[in-house]
Amino acid sequence: MTIAKRPSHPELSNSVREAILASRTEWEESAIALSREIHRVPEIAFQERYASTLVARELEAAGFDVAIGAYGLDTAVEATYGSGDVTVAICAEYDALPGIGHACGHNIIGAAAVGAAIALTAVADRIGLRIKLLGTPAEEHGGGKVIMLDAGAWDDVTFSLMVHGAPGEDVRCLDVRTQAVCRLHIMFQGRPGHTGGPTPSSDNASNAATIGLVALGLLRQHLPDGVRANAFVSEGGQTTNVVPAAAAVRVEVRADTGLTELVRPFQTGNINAWSTAYPGCPGTPDRTNLAGPSRDRSGSPPHGVRYRRRTRSHHHPRRGHPIPGKPTGQSHDRPIVSSAPRESADPIRLRD
Ligand SMILES: [Zn+2]
Repeated sequence: MTIAKRPSHPELSNSVREAILASRTEWEESAIALSREIHRVPEIAFQERYASTLVARELEAAGFDVAIGAYGLDTAVEATYGSGDVTVAICAEYDALPGIGHACGHNIIGAAAVGAAIALTAVADRIGLRIKLLGTPAEEHGGGKVIMLDAGAWDDVTFSLMVHGAPGEDVRCLDVRTQAVCRLHIMFQGRPGHTGGPTPSSDNASNAATIGLVALGLLRQHLPDGVRANAFVSEGGQTTNVVPAAAAVRVEVRADTGLTELVRPFQTGNINAWSTAYPGCPGTPDRTNLAGPSRDRSGSPPHGVRYRRRTRSHHHPRRGHPIPGKPTGQSHDRPIVSSAPRESADPIRLRD
């Protein structure tokens, strides 16, 4: 990468700032409209066809080369602009939560990412920037970014950015840490029977699932600080006159750190204990249809400090009480791809 040919730091910094401020007047209305439209039609993981189309349409109109269905995912978007030797990826999420819609505000993430990408087109050529917006499906459940990462979406990227809205007015971007999360799907297999009479040859899989939940409840007392475990019976029978032959429990474990070690007993020992506690209904952990563990990560402090200063000076003059290093309680696949390594956290040398 040749940094010497670029404009000086103040010039570069001012160019980017002016482009962003100019874009607010030009684009603010349509950004808000895009956010509201994605919010109006919530689509869950891997089904974000309308949202991905809206995002793609905006970027195409702004001169980007756009592809929907990128990296093997039907609802992923790749939109590129410019040919500079520094490629900035901007992540646009747009998936909703089942049953409660856009409670996590991914409609805002999507619109903010589109706005940022379009704003940068004004300076891309002059500062040697290539803009690559990546529309990343299934952040809530499914880990779309992980799939795209494995498929090479970030192979040509110098650094990667995104924002996530949160309630309140703080700008928490100084060394934000996110928790690791792992989700398990445990199937219990029993033998059916009719409940109208004795059922000596039946094994009630729903009972095994109940014992599993009780065991998890008792285990909570002994979990380390910062660990959260939640579980529910997702399948437990269909009618009262039949002994359920199959039951399923979904478990989610979050931890500030050390999740892999923590989850191991959930996957092996404890699950075995659950099944042996209720003979005849072996429990089988199955993670194949759920996201694997995303690791606990920290953001990039240099980027966080700069972002906070900018947002405070231009958008939120009274705001900003970041909590350094404190986990947010969220688990996210964002940091897997958006945290530049600390030693190279400043690839285009933006300075305040
Ligand atoms: Zn979210």
